Amino acid sequence: MVSKVSAFADIAPEVAPASAMPVISVENLVHRYENRTALNGVSFDVRPAELFGLLGPNGSGKTTLFRILSTLMIPTAGRATIMGCDAAQEPARLRRQIGVVFQAQSVDLKLTAYENLWHQGHLYGLRGAALKKRIHEILSRVGLADRARELVETFSGGMQRRIELAKGLLHHPGVLLLDEPTTGLDPGARRDLWQYLQTLRDEEHVSVLVTTHLMEEAERCDRLAIMNEGNLVALGTPAELKSEIGGDVVLLDAAHDAGLLAERIRARFHVQTTVLENQVRMEREGAHRFVTEVVEAFPGEIEAISVSKPALEDVFIRRTGHKFWSDTNSNSEDAQSISADHSRR
Ligand code: ADP
Repeated sequence: MVSKVSAFADIAPEVAPASAMPVISVENLVHRYENRTALNGVSFDVRPAELFGLLGPNGSGKTTLFRILSTLMIPTAGRATIMGCDAAQEPARLRRQIGVVFQAQSVDLKLTAYENLWHQGHLYGLRGAALKKRIHEILSRVGLADRARELVETFSGGMQRRIELAKGLLHHPGVLLLDEPTTGLDPGARRDLWQYLQTLRDEEHVSVLVTTHLMEEAERCDRLAIMNEGNLVALGTPAELKSEIGGDVVLLDAAHDAGLLAERIRARFHVQTTVLENQVRMEREGAHRFVTEVVEAFPGEIEAISVSKPALEDVFIRRTGHKFWSDTNSNSEDAQSISADHSRR
């Protein structure tokens, strides 16, 4: 099982150089799989001790970008550097600076927590008493010191994820990369993991880049890059991004033709509309009065209407003209349940 991290083998630990900012720099990154473009010229920086989120629906290019940053793939064009090391030119040097938690499980269930970390330590050139001390330290950090000698297969999903984290952090990386780390975890374990990432940022000043397709996780990031179909569509703090929405968000379900209704609302109220399947979406100050006027103006045309404060999904809709979860990207069970949650908003 240890072979899953073979790309990271034989790496002696190195003290991170006093890094020039930014910690991660992505410059005009392009990646094509044969004739499919997965990344279409993406640029952003991650600052020191920042909890940075890469938010996007399925197929938006998050994993591709993650794999380039973790040196598992060379981009078609553009450049990615972490702590000054170029991911394509100096992969071995870069790997010393980063801890990586992949989506797929890399812990060996048939080994104890301690044994998993012992093998991981050897991959990074750690040995003997120093490694033993570090394993105890990191297991305490992730709250599993008392379970060190137990088989990982006896752990809950959340505890197994914490061992993955411990593996990624064992060699004291300055940067931690995590690809959708909460997949398959229950809400309590998700909260714990995010709490831990925040502690890591605050107490150990580790810079964290995390990919997610969950809005509530994106809300917890210091800054976010929002991706859609290989493009960066928005970049900023969650609050900054939401503040670009003027007023409240009004969403109405059309009884008949949403396109036609949107046209008539535009003509009557001089408001911008977006049509999302059978819904019409608008941004509006003083939305409650507006809602009454619209309902009165179009009797029998509106099935339901809601007013809400701007959310990150609204930023996505504003920038792309479509919902975060569409028919083309919502084929996973997870996506469908989230889509259902959103439609109940
Ligand atoms: P995400 O992680 O946001 O779901 P991905 O980076 O996995 O996005 O995928 C981006 C695009 O690249 C998608 O259209 C996907 O189908 C395509 N893609 C990903 N991996 C491969 C591959 N190995 N071969 C061909 N196309 C791929």
